[in-house]
Amino acid sequence: MKLRTLIFIALVVVSVLPVGMLAYWQHKTVVDNEFSVVENQHKVIARDLTIALERYATDLKSAFRMTTQNLQNVQKVSGLEQHLSELYFQHVCSIDANGYIQRLQCALACPQVDRFPEPVLAVLGGTLHKAASRPNDIVFSPIVRNPRGQPAIYLVKKMADGNFAIGEVSSDYFVELQQSVAFGEKGHAAIVDQTGHVIAHPLKAWVESIEDLSGVSVVQQMMNGENGVTRFYSPAVEADMVAGFNVVDGPGWGVMVPQPQAEIFMHARDVSKAALTIAIIGIFVASFLSWWISGILSRPMQLLADAAQSVARGDLTHRVVLPDKLRPVEMLKLQRSFNQMIDDVSRKNTVLVNLAHEAVISSNHKSAFISSMNHELRTPMNAVLGFAQMLEINQQEPLTETQQTAVEHILRNGNHLLELIDQMMDLNKIEAGTLPLNIEEIPARDVFDETLYLIRARANHDKIEIVDDTVDKKLPLLMTDSTRLIQVLLNLMSNGVKYNRPGGRVNLSCEEVEGGMLRIKVSDTGLGIPLEQQDKLFTPFERLGHELGQIDGTGIGLSISRQIVEKLDGHIGFESEYNVGSCFWVDIPISSEQTELEEDSVGEAEANEAVSGNVVDKVRTLLYIEDNPDNLHLMEAIIGQFKHLRLLSAPNALIGYDLSTSKRPDLILMDINLPGMNGVQALKRLRDTRETREIPVIAVTSNNQPHEVEAGLRAGFDAYLTKPIKVSDLMRTIERTFASIDNA
Ligand code: ADP
Repeated sequence: MKLRTLIFIALVVVSVLPVGMLAYWQHKTVVDNEFSVVENQHKVIARDLTIALERYATDLKSAFRMTTQNLQNVQKVSGLEQHLSELYFQHVCSIDANGYIQRLQCALACPQVDRFPEPVLAVLGGTLHKAASRPNDIVFSPIVRNPRGQPAIYLVKKMADGNFAIGEVSSDYFVELQQSVAFGEKGHAAIVDQTGHVIAHPLKAWVESIEDLSGVSVVQQMMNGENGVTRFYSPAVEADMVAGFNVVDGPGWGVMVPQPQAEIFMHARDVSKAALTIAIIGIFVASFLSWWISGILSRPMQLLADAAQSVARGDLTHRVVLPDKLRPVEMLKLQRSFNQMIDDVSRKNTVLVNLAHEAVISSNHKSAFISSMNHELRTPMNAVLGFAQMLEINQQEPLTETQQTAVEHILRNGNHLLELIDQMMDLNKIEAGTLPLNIEEIPARDVFDETLYLIRARANHDKIEIVDDTVDKKLPLLMTDSTRLIQVLLNLMSNGVKYNRPGGRVNLSCEEVEGGMLRIKVSDTGLGIPLEQQDKLFTPFERLGHELGQIDGTGIGLSISRQIVEKLDGHIGFESEYNVGSCFWVDIPISSEQTELEEDSVGEAEANEAVSGNVVDKVRTLLYIEDNPDNLHLMEAIIGQFKHLRLLSAPNALIGYDLSTSKRPDLILMDINLPGMNGVQALKRLRDTRETREIPVIAVTSNNQPHEVEAGLRAGFDAYLTKPIKVSDLMRTIERTFASIDNA
């Protein structure tokens, strides 16, 4: 998640949460306030109604008392009927113990009977009984039906003569009073009598049926004489109500002023809506501010992260530049430190780059030096070793024994020097990572044959038997660089020969092992390696005590072999027992595609032998193009040994070309590093000329590196010999070339 998003979320939480809570708190407070205001209002209305009813009850009582006193008099009080009517009296009468009306004061309705209706008396039984027990007190009856079936309240008093005075009052005043109160949509007033029956109520049906509400909680509270505010469920409105209620002292009527709670919530909701709108605007503003602030806070970090990324990608020119405004001090410090750090890194990097550059230059110099030394040493060594070989093979002037030994020394030390130069070249290339590899499918048999062919001469000389245990085996195709593998196997086999005893043995064997590898083993019956020295075996220049002995060596062969084998994706290892022998092995990848190989009916050696017979009876002319007089002289001496060969020579390519066109030699031997036109250019010219096109050309050069050999063969040389030349190799190559001309 991005830093800006994180900061934004954090800021939104800390800013929006309080706004939300405030909105909720405000809504709750509004609802509570609304309730408390409404409750107070309802309480006041209920009390006002109660006061009105108390006054009405007092007025009813005084008018009733006055009328009952007046009932005794024959003389009527004027205006009494009017007064009673105003108070909604129907009439006032006195009845004897049998219910017969003794006296009567009419008001709004007069009874037309002598006797007070029996059903009404029955209903008023409780009231009459109460009045009888409290003489002179005026007792209010609950609401009952009058003889005309209308709701009415009766005032009853036991008089001194034993009769009862009864005044009938309609419920009209209650109804008027109740109807004078209405608020909100369903806010109203209701009046019940002392038994919880409806006197006045907005539901007319309830009024007419004198509905019994004594089961409703608020009514029960009133019947218990309580005042106050309450919340309850109203079956009439089918809603939760809040109501102020009060009891009228004396008659015990209950007055309540209920209103649906929903109306109060509705009002509170209107107020809350405004608050919510403000809260939402607040949330939007808070979110916007949060986004803006998160941008300010995260921008420097983003710039730093971008800069760090660029630097990580290697762009050391990148610097952090913070915006001019609203820059936190800490970020400024970070910016300064970061930029300073990049300055330092950049400075050090420049120093390192320069050093690396110098190192590369000096490494290149070293490589160039070693490469030129290789070339420069090979040219004189060609003469040294060549003439030594000459002396060795010169049958016309045989050497004395002492001379023979001296020549052997020259040859051995010269070859040792060459080996050292070759290995230094390899080491140099491995260190520089420029060792060229040419991985391809190659039959293991070819690799073994070449290795065995190359080692046999040395083995014969040292009287060591070479045993090829792979001879009857079906060998796979390898996926490897054959030149380098032969180099490794040759090193192992020559070690097997060198560190052996006269009459000893070196075996070459192989087996397929896990991981698609061919394990090639070179075991000997030689000196073996002491256990305590075995861990130093692959250390460069480590000869394990043979430095001062008779056995030639450089101590870097195994180290080079290991590095080559690893580059060929293989492994190298060994087992050795001191004074018993050693077994070195290399694992080399087997090609995944194994094709059946045609057996080569005639081996290389046999072919050589087959041709050698033909060559001698024909006289052939050779042309040697070489600028070094010593080498020319050497070649003359070598060729002079063979009666069937004539040698022409040329010191540069131009003369060589002219001689070729004029004399048409049978074969040309050509150096490559010639002054003016080089050997490759001269070859091209010879190939482009009709007279010389068919003449075979053999390169004789000190360019002995594999890529140079490959380039030479690609250029079109028929064979490639490297200096110092081995006389035997030279002669074999010449004979093979003639043989192929003859067979063509
Ligand atoms: P070099 O043979 O030129 O001295 P190497 O790197 O090939 O260098 O071998 C390093 C050393 O390991 C040798 O000097 C020799 O002491 C020891 N060594 C190698 N191969 C054998 C072997 N087959 N038997 C005994 N000792 C060996």
